[in-house]
Amino acid sequence: MGSPEPLIFSLQHFCVHDGPGIRSLVFFKGCPLRCVWCQNVESWKAEAEIGFKAHLCIACGRCVERCPERAIASPGRRDANRCRLCFTCVEACPSGAMTRVGVRRTPEEIVAELRPEFPLLRDSGGGVTFTGGEPALFPEFATDVARLLRSEGIPVALETGGLFNPERLNPLTAELQLILFDIKVFDGEQHRLLCGSENMVIKENLRSLVQATRLGQGPPVWPRLPLVPGMTDGPANIRSWAGLLRDVGTPFVTVVPYHHMGTVKRAWLGLPAGPDLRVPGDGEMAAAAGLFASEGIRAYHPGEEDFPAEATTGRASASG
Ligand code: SF4
Ligand code: SF4
Repeated sequence: MGSPEPLIFSLQHFCVHDGPGIRSLVFFKGCPLRCVWCQNVESWKAEAEIGFKAHLCIACGRCVERCPERAIASPGRRDANRCRLCFTCVEACPSGAMTRVGVRRTPEEIVAELRPEFPLLRDSGGGVTFTGGEPALFPEFATDVARLLRSEGIPVALETGGLFNPERLNPLTAELQLILFDIKVFDGEQHRLLCGSENMVIKENLRSLVQATRLGQGPPVWPRLPLVPGMTDGPANIRSWAGLLRDVGTPFVTVVPYHHMGTVKRAWLGLPAGPDLRVPGDGEMAAAAGLFASEGIRAYHPGEEDFPAEATTGRASASG
């Protein structure tokens, strides 16, 4: 999976939960995982998709009339087998109900769109975070974007689910100032059931990235655990991750509360509903932090981390 030129499905601005300071986020389309609680299901497929937002539809019928393949029987009822993804319906839709998910953008185009924010990002000690999806599936493209950002003094962070080929990542890590490493389900079989793949490679990649940091050959690595009630919040899961984090030498973690955005997005894309999950309450967040603390791991809320200074400077960790 993965190609040199990913599709980008969103650029988000003025974010404060995905690395130090104020950040712009670049969302890469394509992910090797299928976590049942995923909040960015539009990132799963590497290919472009069409979404339908029923609440925006004004029932004008233009999508039905304009489709050259007669693939839309009525608004919101698109036959994916007939659809050739020409996006005529998206262009014809006056209300934004039909949306295209994923566009090809050059590194220069991405940087040009973000450039007006650069002074604010610099002043806040922030930067740009690559997320998705899995940006590490597209290391050459991500490296090109990161190099352009770095040449303008903008620090770059990578958020990764950890399932990638480490040999392909080296040029990218040399351009990064921070890696946000998502950890989820420790038990391998449970991880396969809930996230769609085994997790041995993920654990090995975490270990070797932290080892590279220690040797001065890579940026700081910061683990993050999404707290999903009934899925990732069990004491055994938290204790097991705490043991690994202690072992590899990262005695800190951000605990990210689950939220419901994935449910709405599944409906837009016509995906089957996911499991009925709860947003964790303050008590559950505190309990998870307490469990980590009892295992020697300091847990942070998103946006309150004590990131290392090198994560806030637009200098490459290994080559600069
Ligand atoms: S993308 Fe093109 S083929 Fe597909 S439903 Fe829309 S207009 Fe029809
Ligand atoms: S063109 Fe857009 S607003 Fe009009 S019927 Fe189709 S989806 Fe609804």
